[in-house]
Order: sequence, then structure tokens, then C-alpha cells
Amino acid sequence: MQTEHSYSSLPAEFYQFCAATPVAAPQWLAFNHALASELGLDAALCETTAGLAIFSGNQQATWSKPLAQAYSGHQFGQLSPRLGDGRALLLAEMIDNKGQKRDIQLKGAGPTPYSRRGDGRSALGPVVREYLVSEAMFALGVPTSRALAAVFTGEPVYRDRPQPGGILTRVAASHIRIGTFQYVAMLQNKEALQQLADYVIKRHYPQLQHNTEPYLALLRAVCQAQASLVAHWMSIGFIHGVMNTDNMTVSGETIDYGPCAFLDSYDPHTVFSSIDQQGRYAYKNQPAIAQWNLARLAEALLPLLHQDEQQAVALATAVLNEFPAMYQQQWQQRFCAKLALTANDKNAALVQQLLDLMAASQLDFTLTFRLLSETLNDPLSTSGPAEFFADSSAYQSWHQSWLQQLQQENTPLNTAEIQARMNSVNPLFIPRNHQIEQIILDVTTQQDLTLFNQFAVDLKSPFYPTPDNARWAEAPTPGGAPYRTFCGT
Ligand code: AMP
Ligand code: MG
Repeated sequence: MQTEHSYSSLPAEFYQFCAATPVAAPQWLAFNHALASELGLDAALCETTAGLAIFSGNQQATWSKPLAQAYSGHQFGQLSPRLGDGRALLLAEMIDNKGQKRDIQLKGAGPTPYSRRGDGRSALGPVVREYLVSEAMFALGVPTSRALAAVFTGEPVYRDRPQPGGILTRVAASHIRIGTFQYVAMLQNKEALQQLADYVIKRHYPQLQHNTEPYLALLRAVCQAQASLVAHWMSIGFIHGVMNTDNMTVSGETIDYGPCAFLDSYDPHTVFSSIDQQGRYAYKNQPAIAQWNLARLAEALLPLLHQDEQQAVALATAVLNEFPAMYQQQWQQRFCAKLALTANDKNAALVQQLLDLMAASQLDFTLTFRLLSETLNDPLSTSGPAEFFADSSAYQSWHQSWLQQLQQENTPLNTAEIQARMNSVNPLFIPRNHQIEQIILDVTTQQDLTLFNQFAVDLKSPFYPTPDNARWAEAPTPGGAPYRTFCGT
């Protein structure tokens, strides 16, 4: 195991050293063996009392120098100048088996200098959600923070009512956010800003180190990474739920699985988070919000782009204006692939027609694409998806156009190969909200880990059926109450 503490080489205003606060009676909830071995962590550490003490904050590991990072953030459009890790501690950076530096962070480890009025703790429910959903996102191929460990603290946390507490150990390429740049920009110290930008370039975009305009190139690279990330989210129906600038990384990984959820039936206006009353972070708004957040990053970077502010603004604006095209290209690639079509404008229009039909009939976003792949077994059959579409003749004519396009692009048409392509990008199952909710209920009220453990194994194969995973493919029964996530902070 190789550890570093490179973040603490940055100026002192960027963080504060801070120890975890011990908890009363820790117990293991989960340990991710595969990820531990990627990190070169001693396998004996897991499920031992020594490991439990480290991942519950009761003992400081020899390799750890815990610190809380400072950052700002626009939360629902309002700037909070001083947020920072109020309940998280960066323990160390570990060099993984590919030579990549990864942050190891405890989330819920007690108060820090940035806790404001918070208790520095996490309720167990959100720990369970983040553990399973972030690991499922990884298995779905989406860039994301990972979950290394989760523990019960044996202590209550007080939210709207007392709840059991939990601590998650999160692993990420880094935890540097747009909000980190906003914080440093507000210090009005150009040298410090440049140190952060250079650190990010070296760590995440080393290919830009010798660029003639490295900071403009950094802005463009983050725009590209976020365009790709958000298009990926959209293609699997993921709604982040709190796309505040403090929850958007510069590495392009998904972080902060608070009130996130997945679409069941396809309605682009869907909002799940109970705290998002205006629908700012609705499914369909995610690309526009990403661009809005990137504009905040651009503002923070202005002093590094040009000495003349007007020229700096012009340079930044030109890059931000590239974002819609970057996103559109990523969207086309992801969505055309869902129908085994080449990415181009004409096929994108065909995709959009299908999405409109799905929205009109509130069809399940995940299952519909799997069903469409099955229709290729017998394209003339009138059973199957047609019966689910309110306008079945519109669907049938759409289906004809799709088949024609597939035939045009593939001669001879090899159905099995096309189905395999579709099924490799259209998941059989995603972490359904009703299932995650059931798992959370079992864990938090009964300490029953049966479903949690089953899902933690099955989520590793979201594209291919196994004897066990079909159960997770079930959509919720129609007519249930609309799903709402609660942030649980
Ligand atoms: P989040 O909504 O989890 O992204 O958190 C937004 C901000 O609130 C971050 O600065 C967190 O560190 C802080 N925060 C959230 N929950 C707590 C808590 N229980 N105690 C202290 N700070 C918190
Ligand atoms: Mg956050």
C-alpha cells in the first residue's frame, strides 16, 4: 500500500487538519474487497477490529493524516461562500494498482471546522444508498466515486427524528469541486488560485501540462468531462438531485449521492428530491445546470485566463459556448447506441421520436430498451411493446423506420449481434428507488442485511441476466405514490 498527502502541500487556507470523533459501538455494514485490492489495502484489515476502528474513525491509521477541505458552493443558485467538509475527512491519497492517486475519505466522521451548525454525522439510510448506488453506477460504467466500507456507528443521529448513524468510506479520483475553485477565487490570491489549477492539471489532466494556454485548456477539459458524464447519466435515467457547484467534481466523476434516484417511467420533468421544490435539478435540466455550474468555474478561473478582464471573459465565454455541442455529441453517441444506430442527426431524431412516444405513455425507461431489443427476434409480431404504447400505430410506424435504418446500416442484418450491442448499453436493471428504499428499511430498522448483501453482489452484473438478478428488473407497481428522496443531512 502506497499513500500520499499531496493535498496538504497546497496553501494552508485550503484545508484544516482535523481528527475524527470516535463513535460508541461500531459494527461492520460492508467492506468492498475488490476495491480494497485495487488500492493495495491489506485484506486482513477488512472485517477485523483494527479495520473497523479505522473505518469508523475510532483509531487513526498510521497512513492517515485527516483533514477537512474548504470549498464554497452555489446551492440551488445561491452562493454559500464557506461550506467545506462539514462531515467528511480526507484520510489520505492511495496509489492504486494502475498508478492512479485516489482520495480515501470518511463521510460522517464527526464535526470539523466547517460543520457550521451540523453534527458532522450521517444517518445510516443515506450511507446505505450511497454505498449501493455509487457501486451500481460503477458497474454501469459511469465515472463515479466508489464505496470502500460502511459501518453502523451504534449512535443515533437526530434529524426529523432519531435515526441510526453510519459512516461511509468513499474513494474518489479527488474531491476537488467547482466549489473548491470558487472558494480559492474568493481569497483574491492569484498565486493560490494558480497553485490549485496546476495541482488539478497535474493530477487529472496531465496532458495539458505543456499546453500554451493551460488554464483555458483546463476549463475546456472539465466542460468535456462533464458533458460526457451528464450524457451518460441521462442515458441510464439517473437524476443526481443536488447539482450544486460543491457537488460537481473537476475530475468528471459523479459524487455526493444525496437525494439521487433513477427514472422508472420516462418523464423528462421528473424531480425526486423533496428539497428541490422548484424542480431546478429535474432530469431534463441536468445538462443546462451542468453548463451553469461550469460558468461558475469559468468565473473563478478568469484571473488565470488573461490579465485583461474583458479578454478573459471573452475567452471563457467562447469555451462555455462549446458546451452545448459537446453535450449534444455525447448525447447522440449514448442514445443512438441504445438503439444500435450510428450517431448522427438523423438517427438522433429517430431516438427523440421514440422518447416522445415513451413519455406520452409513461413507459419504463429501462425496460423499454430491453424490450425493443427483444422485438428483433420477431419483428412482425404484434405482441410486445406495441400494446404498451398509447398510440400503438405511431409506435409501429416508428418501429418500421428503426428496422429500416438498422437494415441500411447492417448488411447482412445479424440480429443476435445487434441485440448484444443493445444489451451491452441498456441495463437489465438499475437500482430502483422502491428497492433501495426497502433495503434501507431492512438495514435501518431490523439490522437485516439479507437484501443489502444480495444487491451488493447482483449489482455487479447490470447488463447480463444471471440466475439471481432478474428480481431487480421489476418496475414498481403503477399507481403508487410518487417517489421522493429525503436528503437526510
Ligand atoms: P451536501 O448536501 O451533503 O452536499 O452538503 C452540503 C454542505 O453541508 C457541505 O458543506 C457539507 O459538509 C455540509 N453538511 C451536510 N450535512 C452535514 C452535517 N450533518 N454536519 C455538518 N455539515 C454537514
Ligand atoms: Mg456535497
